[in-house]
Amino acid sequence: MMEFLKELRRRYLKKRKDRDPNFPVTTWMGDDILSNGKIGKCITVILNTPGCRWAYEYGGCTMCGYLMDGSPGEITAENIINQFNYAIEKYYKEIENDPKNICIKIFTSGSFLNEREVPKEARRYILSKIGELDIKEVVIESRIEYIREDTLEEVKECLGSVNMEIGVGVETFNEEIRKHSINKGVCNRDILDTLELAKEYSIDLKAYLLIKPLFITERDAIEDGIYSGNKCLELGFSRISYCPATVHKGTLMEILWKKGQYRPPFLWSVLEIIYEVKRKNPDTIVICDTSGIPSNRGAHNLLKCKCNEYIKRILENFTLRQDLSDIKRVLEMDCCKDHWERFLEFEERNIVPLGDINIKYSNKNKQKFLN
Ligand code: SF4
Ligand SMILES: [Zn+2]
Repeated sequence: MMEFLKELRRRYLKKRKDRDPNFPVTTWMGDDILSNGKIGKCITVILNTPGCRWAYEYGGCTMCGYLMDGSPGEITAENIINQFNYAIEKYYKEIENDPKNICIKIFTSGSFLNEREVPKEARRYILSKIGELDIKEVVIESRIEYIREDTLEEVKECLGSVNMEIGVGVETFNEEIRKHSINKGVCNRDILDTLELAKEYSIDLKAYLLIKPLFITERDAIEDGIYSGNKCLELGFSRISYCPATVHKGTLMEILWKKGQYRPPFLWSVLEIIYEVKRKNPDTIVICDTSGIPSNRGAHNLLKCKCNEYIKRILENFTLRQDLSDIKRVLEMDCCKDHWERFLEFEERNIVPLGDINIKYSNKNKQKFLN
C-alpha cells in the first residue's frame, strides 16, 4: 500500500501552487478553550513549510491532504521567522492587553519539531519569542518520533513559564486500524514511551483521534472512537480532539469515496462517541474539529437535512463549554436518525463497508434503501 500512496502523492504534488514564503498559509484569532478549562483567545498560525516528511517519504496517512498546503519551493529559516512575525504583529495589541488569556497555536501541516520541516533556528526563534511574550500557553503538533529528549529540552529552555501542549496524531488506539486503514507508521508502544517522556518535562500531549478511518463500518467506527478516546484519557493524554473524517483531495480516502466505497461519518455517530467519552471522563476536555461539517466531503447526516448545521453549532458550543446537556438533548431528537439506524443495520449485513449512497446508488435504488 505504501508504494501506491507514494505514487498517488507524487502525482498530486504536481498540482501544488507556489505561495509567498514570507507569509503564513493563514492566521486567525478566535475564542477557544484553554488547558485550564477557561475560555480564552487563541491565535492560530498555519506556517508555510515544505510539509510533512511522512507524506513525502512514505506516502503519508490515507486521509490526509495537508501536504498540499506545503510549499513546492525552498522555505528558509528566515522565511518562517517572517511568517511568524507577521502573525504576531497582526495580533500584538490583543496579546499585550491580556497575555495570560492567550493561547498561540503554531501549526505546520506536519511536525513542528522536525528540523527538515521547521529549521532549528526558526523553531528556537519562535519558541523564545513566545517565551518572552509570556502568554498562557502554546500548542504545536508533531509526529511522535520528533518528541525526544533533545527537542523537549530545547522547548523548555525557550518557553520559560509558558505551558506547552503538543498535538499528536494517535488517530485510534487499535494498532491494526492505525496501520492498515491509516498508514500512520506509529505503534502503541512508541506512543506510551512518548507519553512518559512528555510527563518528565511537564509537557501536555493532546491526542487527535480520527472518527471513521477507511475500511471499517460505521458501527465499528463508533466503537473505535469510544474505545480510543477512553484509552487515551486513561493513559494520561491531557485532552482529546476528535477529527471526524473529511475527504481531502489527492488521498486514498478520496479515491474510495469517489467510487462510492467510503462515506464520511454520520453526525449522529460523532455525537454518540463524544457523549459516551465525555460522560465517562467528565473532568477532562474533549473537543471536536468541525471543519468540513456538514459538506458531502465531511461528517454529515442526510445531506439536505436541517439538523446538520444545527449539530455543527452544538459541537462548536460543546468544544468551548464542555457542557454535555445539549449533546444529550440532540441525541434524543428524532429528525433523520432512523436513516442512520437503518444504515448501521444494513451495513452490518453487507460484506464490505457501505460507501456514500448519494454517489453509489441511482436515485431509484437510493429511494428503495431509504424506504
Ligand atoms: S496526518 Fe500528520 S503525519 Fe499523517 S500525513 Fe498528515 S500531516 Fe503527515
Ligand atoms: Zn436530520
